[in-house]
Amino acid sequence: MTSSKYDYDLFVIGAGSGGVRASRMAASFGAKVAIAEDRYMGGTCVNVGCVPKKLYVYGSHFGEDIADGAGYGWQASEVSFEWTTLRDNKKQEISRLNGVYRNLLKNAGVKLIEGRASLADAHTVKVGKKKYTAERILIATGGWPYIPEFPGSEHAITSNEVFDLDKFPQRIIVVGGGYIAVEFAGIFAGLGAETHLIYRRDLFLRGFDQDIREFVRDEVAKKHVNLHFNTEIDKIEKLATDALVAHTNKGEQIAADVILYATGRKPNLHGLGLENVKVKLNGDGTIKVDDYFNSSESSIYAVGDVIGGPELTPVALAEGMALAKTLYLNQPTKVDYDNIPTAVFSQPNIATVGLTEEQAHERGYELEIYKASFRHLKHTLSGRDERTMMKLVVEKDSQKVLGCHMVGADAGEIIQGLAVAIKAGATKAVFDSTIGIHPTAAEEFVTMR
Ligand code: FAD
Ligand code: NDP
Repeated sequence: MTSSKYDYDLFVIGAGSGGVRASRMAASFGAKVAIAEDRYMGGTCVNVGCVPKKLYVYGSHFGEDIADGAGYGWQASEVSFEWTTLRDNKKQEISRLNGVYRNLLKNAGVKLIEGRASLADAHTVKVGKKKYTAERILIATGGWPYIPEFPGSEHAITSNEVFDLDKFPQRIIVVGGGYIAVEFAGIFAGLGAETHLIYRRDLFLRGFDQDIREFVRDEVAKKHVNLHFNTEIDKIEKLATDALVAHTNKGEQIAADVILYATGRKPNLHGLGLENVKVKLNGDGTIKVDDYFNSSESSIYAVGDVIGGPELTPVALAEGMALAKTLYLNQPTKVDYDNIPTAVFSQPNIATVGLTEEQAHERGYELEIYKASFRHLKHTLSGRDERTMMKLVVEKDSQKVLGCHMVGADAGEIIQGLAVAIKAGATKAVFDSTIGIHPTAAEEFVTMR
């Protein structure tokens, strides 16, 4: 397929979720493809995102699980946790995955070029001193954590650093109210750290269903996360002992060993050479693309976190796949952004698909709301005061289920299945006529009346 005019049909910048998927698929459809990566194979998700995060969530559950066993007759004496074991085993698994990604590209015939890439012009990429030409270029450079600047902000760390801390922090402050803040507050509280979560507004997880947010607030507080809402850090002071003190706008001083800022991510465009091409940006600094991921420069495309939208690995994968089909399979393919399921691996988990009650109201639907909250069967013997919540948002006239929300163990596993039903346009009657699997928590979704 290669046009002799260029070294490659497609040159991909960034071997993360979107870039790897697009390059492998394009190569499998016959294109000559190269990919540049300057940091780690597999990108954010594999190295400092989804995968290590989920391993740490599993790790942090064992303390509770061991305690829960007592009601079932298990006695564990001398329970202790060693951070270095978790951290180093995680490192080993991530190195294995880096190798898997390397092989995936090699087996697909994609040429891997290691180094930081920049655009020299609309058909030329520079990596180090070398230049490569391509008929098309794909920017899949992802995002980078953002920390606001204020006195002492240099003492804060981000999710990039938190996975590999030398020492386990006995006290940690997590700042932010999004996915990463809520997940890491849960991880560190579960591992035994004194944990504070500081968020600037009155309730975290903005954009999630209000009932879900309130329910999660109560459950997270039960798990010994100290919640500080309507609070901001004005200054971080570093003491001679290396301990940090956060001075808040409410006049509090909170001591910690680590202060983690989870205050969002910005597109990773630093040094990319955008000034040499006609790629336009949106107001928030993400790359502006059309429905087929073409930027304002006709030979340059972009997918993944760098174009904004839901910053989720399966979304970047879907975009990479759609682009490869469009360009090299002659099948123009858009991504359907409706009803994207998502989970926050907080403790307990949150998972959701479709509209929140508030979004459905805003769109003018008349609604029927179904809710259930109960103690999981497991906790009748464990004695743990943890509750599960489920909610269905149903359009009154059509009886279509517009939204499905859950807080509880394995919510992500449960909602993934229900997302298929929502995508298929299931009505409440379809839910009601489905026989439950007993005894499960999930059966509550088909028995809510
Ligand atoms: P990335 O995966 O970020 O890949 C971009 C790649 O480009 C990187 O490898 C980078 O090194 C490389 N790069 C950048 N610039 C250059 C350059 N100039 N030259 C060469 N290479 C370059 N999503 C989920 O769906 N589920 C989760 O549970 C989840 N957990 C997360 C937890 C954390 C802590 C974080 C930070 C994110 C999480 N995400 C999760 C989001 C998910 O990781 C991202 O949405 C996803 O990785 C985006 O993929 P991408 O291909 O756009 O970018
Ligand atoms: P989010 O955008 O989800 O949340 C950022 C949080 O930081 C918000 O609560 C925001 O507050 C707050 N914030 C922003 N700026 C400031 C500031 N200057 N001072 C104080 N607080 C501030 O970002 P995350 O960093 O949590 O995660 C990035 C993305 O990665 C997520 O949006 C998600 O798409 C993805 N991700 C997905 C996961 C999953 O699928 N399980 C897990 C982790 C990440 P406000 O609400 O007021 O705007």
